[in-house]
Amino acid sequence: MSVFDHDEFDHHESLSFFDDPVSGLRAIVAVHSTALGPAAGGCRRWHYANDGDALTDVLRLSRGMTYKNAVAGLPFGGGKAVILAHEDAPKSKALFQALGRAVDSLGGRYVTAEDVGITVDDMRIVAGETRYVSGLPQAGAEAGGDPSPWTALGVFLGIQAAVETRLGKDTLDGVRIAVQGVGHVGHDLCRLLHEAGAGLVVADVSRDCLDAVSREMPVDIVAPTEILFSDVDVLAPCALGNVFNSTTIPGIRASIVAGAANNQLATEQDGARLAERGILYAPDYVINAGGVISVAHEYLGRSSKDEVRAEVARIPERLTDIFEEAAATGAATNQIADALARHLVAGSTDGGDSSDKRRIA
Ligand code: NAD
Repeated sequence: MSVFDHDEFDHHESLSFFDDPVSGLRAIVAVHSTALGPAAGGCRRWHYANDGDALTDVLRLSRGMTYKNAVAGLPFGGGKAVILAHEDAPKSKALFQALGRAVDSLGGRYVTAEDVGITVDDMRIVAGETRYVSGLPQAGAEAGGDPSPWTALGVFLGIQAAVETRLGKDTLDGVRIAVQGVGHVGHDLCRLLHEAGAGLVVADVSRDCLDAVSREMPVDIVAPTEILFSDVDVLAPCALGNVFNSTTIPGIRASIVAGAANNQLATEQDGARLAERGILYAPDYVINAGGVISVAHEYLGRSSKDEVRAEVARIPERLTDIFEEAAATGAATNQIADALARHLVAGSTDGGDSSDKRRIA
């Protein structure tokens, strides 16, 4: 398995492989950058087809975290952990204790939290082994706990901004929105959209998740193979990445793509493909930063939920800036976001102009 020649290798600072035969933990932790602070990013547990897919995922996700944290104005770099799920190693206390020891061995260069396949209870076990963990419930009005509701809130506000930009509407009343994946974030997002008057089309591979959402609000359920091509105004991918590519983009009927999933574009060029079709794309790591904003404030230990809410409420203004620059320059929104993120990270290490940092901090 090639690492340094890997397509997704981007001068990551370190890559650590953990193998604990007792618990069955097999995990990879990628630290992409610590230029702006400790590398923060969640831990994902997933059944990968092979080790190479896990490596690809952790390399891409950790770089995305560097960009996400930079654009959100957080004093953190980017990292990510992936656990390679397999039948011989079901979730267990021993497995998450081993993960906690692995995180601890990195001495604070990487801070973990929940991502796909990981719950608050899992992170509580991790917290028994290391202090470099966040996403744990806090008392009273203090920031903390499951990041998903904050991610959903940020995506909801981002969808409002995108609808205003693309459709010229200052309300979601009557706007049709397709949500791919109604898990932790997707379900909360559906609730917010429904309360705002939007009509919902949803898909999930889990019957339980579909039942939970349809018990709570009216939704049209379509097959997972159809959701991307629904006749709607907005498409909100809230499942996994690599959704948009040269095969799927020609069939999309929505004029806005704005959702929570990380790494929605299969390649950078797919952002331009969406733009060429007149589809307004909200860069994934800009619109889905609500969760990491909560996790970061919790980790720094000095914030209330109200402060987190105020920070999450800044997501739409960041998106609007990007949309306006795209309209003015013709560049794709993902390219504009990537350039801003790289500028912020470079500015922190070479003493460069940090005016953008002040603008978004
Ligand atoms: P989750 O696992 O709770 O939900 C994902 C849902 O997608 C599940 O219900 C799953 O059954 C469904 N799904 C999987 N494949 C599907 C398919 N092909 N078609 C339709 N549905 C499918 O995860 P989550 O925490 O809600 O996160 C969703 C996405 O948002 C992920 O990409 C995650 O990385 C990203 N994200 C999450 C957070 C957060 O705070 N949880 C923050 C930032 C980004």
